[in-house]
Amino acid sequence: MESILVLAHTDESGKLLSKASLEAVAAGEQLAAMLGTPFSVGLIGPAEALHVIGDCGARFFAVSGDAFAQPRYATDAAAFEAMCRASQATIVLAPHSSRVARVAAGVAYRLSGVIDTHITTFGGDASLQASRWFYRQRIEAALTRTARPWFLLLEPGTHPAFAVEDSATAEVTQVPVELPATRTTVSGTRSPQQGQQTIRPDASLLFVAGAGWTKKQPNGKVRTDDAARIILDFLKLSGASLGSSKSLVDQGGDGSSVLPFLSHMNQVGQTGATPRHPRGLSTCCHGEEPHVVGWRFIGERRAISLDANCGWTRGKADVVYIADAFEVMEKVNELLAAK
Ligand SMILES: Cc1cc2nc3c(=O)[nH]c(=O)nc-3n(C[C@H](O)[C@H](O)[C@H](O)COP(=O)(O)OP(=O)(O)OC[C@H]3O[C@@H](n4cnc5c(N)ncnc54)[C@H](O)[C@@H]3O)c2cc1C
Repeated sequence: MESILVLAHTDESGKLLSKASLEAVAAGEQLAAMLGTPFSVGLIGPAEALHVIGDCGARFFAVSGDAFAQPRYATDAAAFEAMCRASQATIVLAPHSSRVARVAAGVAYRLSGVIDTHITTFGGDASLQASRWFYRQRIEAALTRTARPWFLLLEPGTHPAFAVEDSATAEVTQVPVELPATRTTVSGTRSPQQGQQTIRPDASLLFVAGAGWTKKQPNGKVRTDDAARIILDFLKLSGASLGSSKSLVDQGGDGSSVLPFLSHMNQVGQTGATPRHPRGLSTCCHGEEPHVVGWRFIGERRAISLDANCGWTRGKADVVYIADAFEVMEKVNELLAAK
């Protein structure tokens, strides 16, 4: 019989379970019900953080203490390895966060296990099937394996987060870990973006800016300053996350007029990100396939383009407004500000 362990960690506060961890807990609960098997949750962080999921039906393990508070390969790998051994899990489910992704393959190796990443769904009758997408989200594969333990890193945003209960309590087994030799001291965090943070994975809306924002407009002029103001106002008023087409972020290197708050981190598409927001609004973007493939998991897609013949109108968006995005977004900002 299989036994499942969900690995979890805290968010930046160091006190609360991260959203991706709560999604993994919900997926673990579902998977346990599907396979008719017990499941455990193993946390790297303070045991109190587990209380809010105390009624999920799992056994709880934790590795806590100052040495494990900061993400660091040596300590994270040692903690996860210890919890895998303590729980005797055959299936280890964990969020595909940067913290876990960095160490999970190493932990699987230490346990003579196997690992698959970017998992989105589970299925199978007699034996577990885990699905993921290949070739930049164009091909979906269902994987089965006989080797155990099988580590599965769950793509964030594919499962709803476990609904936490403030009044719940969890009985947590502390797993002792012999502190490994460490060379890394975490002295602080430096964000890759200066000033305003525009990438917000948890936002309900993805706002995508295309190269049209910096192109000559119908009045014959480039309006980059207006574009920057309109986009930043919209992000502030709506709380949306900012994405971009490749053409727009590449312009910095071409010496063209650029939006200073955009970097390749914002790029959506084949050679960029594949975000998972429930809704997306594309503006001044042509909707070409290498860009739109990054929209694979956006729930509802809308676009504003001057070109009635753009890729969005050819079946790639749910709603297309053939309009001037400067005018539309100025009006939208006005309405949002009035609210
Ligand atoms: C191997 C490869 C990988 C690639 N990977 C990616 C990727 O990951 N992501 C990506 O984005 N692209 C990628 N591309 C590039 C992609 O093919 C397109 O070139 C790119 O997406 C075009 O960007 P755009 O639509 O912003 O610009 P353009 O094609 O220049 O389109 C600008 C649009 O803005 C509209 N417009 C202008 N002014 C206004 C206005 N006032 N109001 C409304 N609309 C207006 C125009 O009508 C036009 O449709 C890749 C290409 C290759 C070959």
